[in-house]
Amino acid sequence: MPKLTIDNIQVEAEPGDTILKAAAKIGIKIPTLCHHPDQAVKANCRICVVEVEGQRVLQPACSFPASEGLIVKTNSSKARLARRNILELILAHHNRECLTCPRGGGCELQTVSEMLNFNGEIRYENHMRGHGKDYSSPSIVRDPSKCIVCERCIYACSQIQTVNVLSKENRGFHTTVATAYNLPLSETSCVFCGQCVQACPVGALTMRDDTKEVWKAIEDPDKWVVAQCAPTVRITLAEALGEPPGTVSTGRLVTAMRALGFNAVFDTDFSADLTIMEEGSELLHRIQNGGTLPMITSCSPGWVNFCEAYYDDQLAHLSTCKSPQQMFGAVLKTYYADKCGRDIDSLYSVSIMPCTAKKHERLRPAMASSGRRDVDCVLTVQELARMIKSAGLDFARLPESDFDLPFGLGSGAGEIFGATGGVMEAALRTVYEIVTGRELENIEFTDVRGFAGVKEAAVDLDGTEVKIAVAHGLSNARLLMDQLREGQSPYHFIEVMACPGGCIGGGGNPIKNWAKMDKRLDAVYETDRSLPIRKSHKNPAIKQLYDEFLKEPLGELPHKLLHTHYSSRAALTK
Ligand code: SF4
Ligand code: SF4
Ligand code: SF4
Repeated sequence: MPKLTIDNIQVEAEPGDTILKAAAKIGIKIPTLCHHPDQAVKANCRICVVEVEGQRVLQPACSFPASEGLIVKTNSSKARLARRNILELILAHHNRECLTCPRGGGCELQTVSEMLNFNGEIRYENHMRGHGKDYSSPSIVRDPSKCIVCERCIYACSQIQTVNVLSKENRGFHTTVATAYNLPLSETSCVFCGQCVQACPVGALTMRDDTKEVWKAIEDPDKWVVAQCAPTVRITLAEALGEPPGTVSTGRLVTAMRALGFNAVFDTDFSADLTIMEEGSELLHRIQNGGTLPMITSCSPGWVNFCEAYYDDQLAHLSTCKSPQQMFGAVLKTYYADKCGRDIDSLYSVSIMPCTAKKHERLRPAMASSGRRDVDCVLTVQELARMIKSAGLDFARLPESDFDLPFGLGSGAGEIFGATGGVMEAALRTVYEIVTGRELENIEFTDVRGFAGVKEAAVDLDGTEVKIAVAHGLSNARLLMDQLREGQSPYHFIEVMACPGGCIGGGGNPIKNWAKMDKRLDAVYETDRSLPIRKSHKNPAIKQLYDEFLKEPLGELPHKLLHTHYSSRAALTK
């Protein structure tokens, strides 16, 4: 345990700690920008420089090892002056329109400015970076004039997601982050996962804001505006509105949406159960009839985009099931329209999602099986939080309400879709009982829980051993897909979620780190345990939907409304 002195305070560090980490242990916060707790050290912005006795020049606290006997001053006039100069240089390149910036209020550059008590003149001429905003993507907006070249987005896109869409271009003052040849994001192999948005400390990468469309629909007297809320929304909305990570807010979420003017508020847990009915049946059908195995889940649109771009020779492995969002949209504009006697054109279907890729998914050509766009607009958790704030609702004090019927009842199996391993666990709860005809006593498949990059297990289904694997984050998906491509995959069923941690780590959530993710994960399983129904096939609303409308899983109508096909996007990777 190295012992060192920071600002006259003795500290015992862990082996491998940096000065930044050691200082945090004794309550000393050193400003950072390029540093991200979940990424490798980059040390390129230098805003964290400190004085280290015996060193001729200032050293970056984020990378300098906290070694035995070190004497450090984090707040000397030399360090303060250097930081101020660095900040001035950053701001001289920056489009400082905080009042209208989507990151205003949650921006790390604003925080650093405040920490450094920066209230003086900027001595350098203002030179903006980049080539104007890129609005081409349905999910992500790029604004190079706000980029501080910290490279956190590059790390997220290339190391965590292995998509490699973003890289540095030019040199010196003209350095910026861009796509290859400055192509619009929509013309690259971007999978719209939003992990770059989660990594960006400023407003250079933000999620697209579609709230105006929803306000317009709500104010239109000829529209019946119906919302579905994904499992994760009840886990992360309160956090987006300032409450501690892991605060579950199901009842308040419904009340808030009614107060905003939504005509009906439904639960995507319901269509997650529907997905399990179809996907579980598809898996059994493939196993019993020599179909393509392993079958791979298809409910994460970022993952589907990735597979179409980088593994288009393996598309037959993807389940043909649509995601819960799109299944919901399809039954809403058919079964629900009939049931409530509404003209299909008066229905405006909004999804509240933790996911930026869902904004792209709703536009896929096949997602119009009702004869119209099945989902009219997708809002992320962050956008919904902005609507709630702008309506003046004090979320913490709202009373609780229940979801509307007939799509307001979801099971615990539907709820755990929000976490990595959840789709697999939900499917096993149902498939086991269908195959064996026996009640599953211990329904918690702990082998597929947690944040290990790849998890595997084997399940005995009445004498047949089914081998399963779960991956989250696209670099982990690559490991399983390369194994599959080489003909070495031992699995029957694989779950892949594009975002690290699954939907609770989705790009549309409040900005995350792994410490917050632990709390969100606990909240997912706590919610599952609190629900009276925990298996999809036991959901009476699902039984009613099949009885009254769909008839049987994998039947003719489910095939038309709930299943889809995939096409290669490999040309975008060339
Ligand atoms: S990125 Fe931050 S500092 Fe820059 S304009 Fe936006 S809020 Fe202001
Ligand atoms: S959305 Fe995902 S794939 Fe696209 S640039 Fe960002 S990190 Fe890369
Ligand atoms: S876009 Fe954001 S994350 Fe990427 S380098 Fe610029 S400021 Fe950093």
